[in-house]
Amino acid sequence: MKPIPYGRQHITQEDIDAVVETLQSDYLTQGPKVAEFEQAFANYVGAKYAVAVSNGTAALHLCAMALGVNEESRVITTPITFVASANCVRYCGGTVEFADIDPTTALLDIAKVRAILESKPKGYYTGIIPVDFAGNPVNLEEFRKLADEFGLWIIEDACHAPGGYFTDSKGEKQLCGNGKFADMAIFSFHPVKHIATGEGGMITTNDEALYQKLLLYRTHGITRDPQLLQENHGGWYMEMQELGYNYRMPDMLCALGVTQLQRAEAGLARRKGIAKVYDEAFATIDGIEVLGTSAEALSENGDTGHAYHLYVIKVADRKGLYNFLRQHNIFAQVHYIPAHTMPYYRGLGFKKGDYPESENYYAACLSLPMYPSLTAEEQEFVIGKVKEFVG
Ligand SMILES: *Cc1c(COP(=O)(O)O)cnc(C)c1O
Repeated sequence: MKPIPYGRQHITQEDIDAVVETLQSDYLTQGPKVAEFEQAFANYVGAKYAVAVSNGTAALHLCAMALGVNEESRVITTPITFVASANCVRYCGGTVEFADIDPTTALLDIAKVRAILESKPKGYYTGIIPVDFAGNPVNLEEFRKLADEFGLWIIEDACHAPGGYFTDSKGEKQLCGNGKFADMAIFSFHPVKHIATGEGGMITTNDEALYQKLLLYRTHGITRDPQLLQENHGGWYMEMQELGYNYRMPDMLCALGVTQLQRAEAGLARRKGIAKVYDEAFATIDGIEVLGTSAEALSENGDTGHAYHLYVIKVADRKGLYNFLRQHNIFAQVHYIPAHTMPYYRGLGFKKGDYPESENYYAACLSLPMYPSLTAEEQEFVIGKVKEFVG
């Protein structure tokens, strides 16, 4: 059996052709493939605007900038996420506060967020960054109500959940990143994610003013728009109006994004199929707990809004299972080491014991192989080895 990772990209001849074609075109960056990918992505998640950027971390940084995060800002996120969800606040000089997870789903626990908000006067906190962890969509309708009550903005970190959705109180499907409840949402196109371009990211929003800021900050804070210029010296003239960055996504990668996106629904269906096989295999095994799906992501016809970036199980001897699987060329992974226990965040005053549910989850969790090109035979092999160890 060849090595089986926990996640990997799926590249077809069509993807390769699209990249080669762009390499032979007039534009390697700032060309027409950028807008084409942005438009296709906005349509896919049901948002009005999309802004392609160099990676998911840059997307988070630009969102924090556009929302005006500064030294006075205090922002709540989850410890069970990739550290970039919290770091974006630090890039802008703001303070990170964590709230613990709901142990059944490992999603940010809204009750704990509320308790933190209520412990301080209104206006003390400025924003919330919930994460659709593992592809399990956060109920953003509930988070929006809470945010409105306390005057907060929301950045949805939807890196794990393109194509995912939750069902709102009216019974309507709400796609992750559709901009209906969150001010902005962000995605990553790292090779382990659903849509793989190597590096790449996307911000989606329905807010025109935020959209304009993101465009400006993505490219040095420079504009050539005659409507916005303070002076105009001629055809060459441009102005740097804000301190921005170069966070652009090149045309070759956007071309890859376009062809990847065309297969996104098929990939998602395959992920759901893999999850179902794991679910059935582990349902009757004592000693394996499958990470729960939030109620809002379940629907009656057996379809679910869970986008299955990860398939997470919890076991007592996690390290033993991790090592046993590695011996058999199965490279399961741990998502995540709680952010507040990282030396950097400990240096800011956080300590082990601060968020017990996150730490308990971390002690037991393991992400099994989950990607569209995983074969039925490979999955059977993985299941067999997991059962062999636990049983
Ligand atoms: C991958 C990921 C990011 C960062 O994306 P990059 O493209 O790697 O910068 C941020 N948040 C979450 C939850 C992620 O999974």
